[in-house]
Amino acid sequence: MNWTIDGVRDSLAGKKISARELTAEFYKRIEARNPELNAFLALSPERAYAQAERVDALVAAGKPLPPLAGVPIAIKDVISTRGVRTTCGSKILGTYMPPYDATAVEKLEAAGAVLLGKTNCDEFAMGSSNENSAYGPVGNPAAPGCVPGGSSGGSAAAVAAGLAVAALGTDTGGSIRQPGSFCGIPAMMGSYGRVSRYGLIAFASSLDRIGPFATSVRDIAAVLRVIAGRDPRDSTSTTDPVPDYTAEAAKPVKGLRLGIPKEYFGAGMDFGVRQKIAAGIALFQSLGCELVEVAMPHTDYAIATYYIIATAEASSNLARYDGVRFGLRVNGDSLVGMYRKTRGTGFGAEVKRRIVLGTYVLSAGYYDAYYLKGQKVRTLIAQDFQKAFTQVDAILTPTSPVPPFKLGERTADPLQMYLADIYTVTGSLAGLPGISVPCGKLSGGLPVGLQIFAPAFAEVRALQLAQAFELAGGANL
Ligand code: GLN
Repeated sequence: MNWTIDGVRDSLAGKKISARELTAEFYKRIEARNPELNAFLALSPERAYAQAERVDALVAAGKPLPPLAGVPIAIKDVISTRGVRTTCGSKILGTYMPPYDATAVEKLEAAGAVLLGKTNCDEFAMGSSNENSAYGPVGNPAAPGCVPGGSSGGSAAAVAAGLAVAALGTDTGGSIRQPGSFCGIPAMMGSYGRVSRYGLIAFASSLDRIGPFATSVRDIAAVLRVIAGRDPRDSTSTTDPVPDYTAEAAKPVKGLRLGIPKEYFGAGMDFGVRQKIAAGIALFQSLGCELVEVAMPHTDYAIATYYIIATAEASSNLARYDGVRFGLRVNGDSLVGMYRKTRGTGFGAEVKRRIVLGTYVLSAGYYDAYYLKGQKVRTLIAQDFQKAFTQVDAILTPTSPVPPFKLGERTADPLQMYLADIYTVTGSLAGLPGISVPCGKLSGGLPVGLQIFAPAFAEVRALQLAQAFELAGGANL
């Protein structure tokens, strides 16, 4: 039932199942569960079976299998897939067929993965609950009646429900880590520049990152290893060599110093979450890690800074949807009329709100007061981390201040929704790697996630800690 990457490889190599049969098994699961979960927006069976057959041919020929041979995966619908509809959860791209693959997708397929389909998400990745998708909300398989988190809610739900072994999401301010936490699975954002953004349809380019969901930290490491690395088509991707994350993640954590920032444990945090995170921190102590209190004095400004920078970049990135170059066009009585009607019908309320806000903070007269100030505060937040990392090897925080909430509970108040990102946006602004690992469940089964931040390009350290935590029973605290 619960396939892992190792399990798939062993079963294929031992001829217990073929890649074709495994693919069919996952499509059967999707058929059974997707009507209720709404995690997938599009399926790509032709592409999946063609890939499965290539893998089966390798097995038949006794050739070595690539690292993700036959592994069924799902891709968030903001990531381009050649010939497979890619909507960004928006009506404006309702019929868009990308003419090329994102680098991350290309790399996954080159490593043998089987692409099952595209997953639901908040429109243009703007949201924390998946309720901003033009194609309806997603169910949380770990907490029925609750949101799966967002914006990568479909990817998180697909993996948590066993409809894919791993999935790609994107994280701009928390959209991988928070849904991972809400659905009770590990989820990771690498450092900015670690994974190519080529083919990722932009929300806020200085923050956007692609990263994996899986059911174990080991699988997260395996997927990250495949998708990471320099890409000449993304000038912000790093030339830093890609370590063997799977091997490195297994290294011991004894003696590592872990920072606990008191600013992350203030008001607004659910009491149950607080207790679980405290138990998680104690578990690290029992593994031989040393706890150190660190100060992150600019944390309070993170949400405001994020919503200035992210909306500014979004207003610019989303200007391209003009009814001429991509997707939807609604005719009007003039060129401007056509723009208005296309954008007015094609974009949902949250996207429009952000375009208005972003245009405002970039406009003459307000640029210095908001956007420029925001950039300066971003630097201060990054410096908080740099200072903390002179004392500690990694930082522990809750992933979300609250457990999964009920569908519809927060949609009326956008500010309430923005506050869900309070612990995740800091690491986004600072460009750091962050992973969320399951840290027990509240009564009623609501999952809690613990977040681990590491210094830039020290993904290995975050993975090591996450894996040790998982193996020590972190999920059952
Ligand atoms: N929830 C945050 C937002 O709405 C983060 C989104 C994301 O990381 N893509 O912007």
